[in-house]
Amino acid sequence: MKFGGASVKDAAAIRNVAAIITEHQEQALLVVISAMDKTTNHLENLAYLARDGKEAEVKEQFAKIKRFHLKIVADLFGDKQAEVKSKVDAFLDKIERIVSGILMLEEFPPRTYDRIVSFGELLSTTVVAEYLKLADQEAVWIDARDYLKTDANYRQAGVIWSLTEANIRTQVMSLSRRGRALITQGFIGSTTDGKTTTLGREGSDYTASIFAHCLNASSLVVWKDVPGILNGDPRIRENTIKIDNLSYEEAVEMTFYGASVIHPKTIKPIFNKRIPLRVKCFLDTSLPGTVISEQTNPELVTSYIVKKNQVFIRIKPRDFSFMEEHLMQEVFYHVNKSGLKVNLLQNSAISLMLCVDNRPAVINAFEALLLDQFLVEIREGLKLNTIINFEKSDLANIEEAKMVQLQENKLYIVK
Ligand code: ASP
Ligand code: MG
Repeated sequence: MKFGGASVKDAAAIRNVAAIITEHQEQALLVVISAMDKTTNHLENLAYLARDGKEAEVKEQFAKIKRFHLKIVADLFGDKQAEVKSKVDAFLDKIERIVSGILMLEEFPPRTYDRIVSFGELLSTTVVAEYLKLADQEAVWIDARDYLKTDANYRQAGVIWSLTEANIRTQVMSLSRRGRALITQGFIGSTTDGKTTTLGREGSDYTASIFAHCLNASSLVVWKDVPGILNGDPRIRENTIKIDNLSYEEAVEMTFYGASVIHPKTIKPIFNKRIPLRVKCFLDTSLPGTVISEQTNPELVTSYIVKKNQVFIRIKPRDFSFMEEHLMQEVFYHVNKSGLKVNLLQNSAISLMLCVDNRPAVINAFEALLLDQFLVEIREGLKLNTIINFEKSDLANIEEAKMVQLQENKLYIVK
């Protein structure tokens, strides 16, 4: 199972997580946990302040992170906090030392980013594991970095599957047994030479999926503060409904196109072993949640997903040539080289259109590579609307509401 930051945001929330773990102790469990509440953001800010040489603000921000964690420890452990507090203090000391290094050097390479943000998960898992032990539950804290091996692409590390699978098979499988919960960190891994890496923001779901895959788990449960996966974002849509069943294919399309309930990379590892993923509510564990498996919902549900901050790029050969395959190949060579992330594409006689995430530095670099040969038109501030299992009336509604800003760029996923 996996618990996100909101599920461990304070002492009461952690008690609830411990109760859920205890409820499932009959099974052999591996539990992946994120940093508490917004700790990853707070650690990011801390490091950025240090990079910018803002000494006073660094002090303040560090004190805030420290206070937050020590308060949770005090709330949970009371006068039995000596042991856990010494572990937490040791992590906090390391954070402080790394931050003073950044301040001194005024340098903040990606490798250091990964080191500093990794403490969020190291802290949260330590507190939860110690709390379970206090409640006489059999819990074993394991360091994900010992097993989950990645390349050195800091901040977005790629998993080295062969090593990771072998490590988990030989070293984690043997630790696992009924009545015992293995507690580990989401989001973090390490290179073959032991440098801490991260899998990209919100990557804890992916960690859980990697462990589930390598352990041949019977299921993966992702605990959220919502009753399951909804067919739209309740902040922008009225009358959303909870979906009981989603196929892996529907789930991967939904998450890729911006449904933020689970990280898009989560689906592939569990799909390849046909492991069902349940999204359940940690506020009310009796609710059935959503099951992602080979089965789609008996009644087709239409889902509406919006991905914000999109950029539209239209590329045309300067000499009015057809946008033929050799030119597309050329464009895509640069797409790949510059690291552009294409969400949608379409071609016409003399143009190629892309819808990409707004990463200005990447887009500028891409444009520069093309300008000799192509005219490049760029429009920012767009939204990508995806409708899965759409009905005709949905299209009419969208067009009527003038939501379609790029008539030529609609994606229809039909069942
Ligand atoms: N703590 C990390 C983040 O906030 C990973 C996660 O929560 O999934 O990005
Ligand atoms: Mg998080």
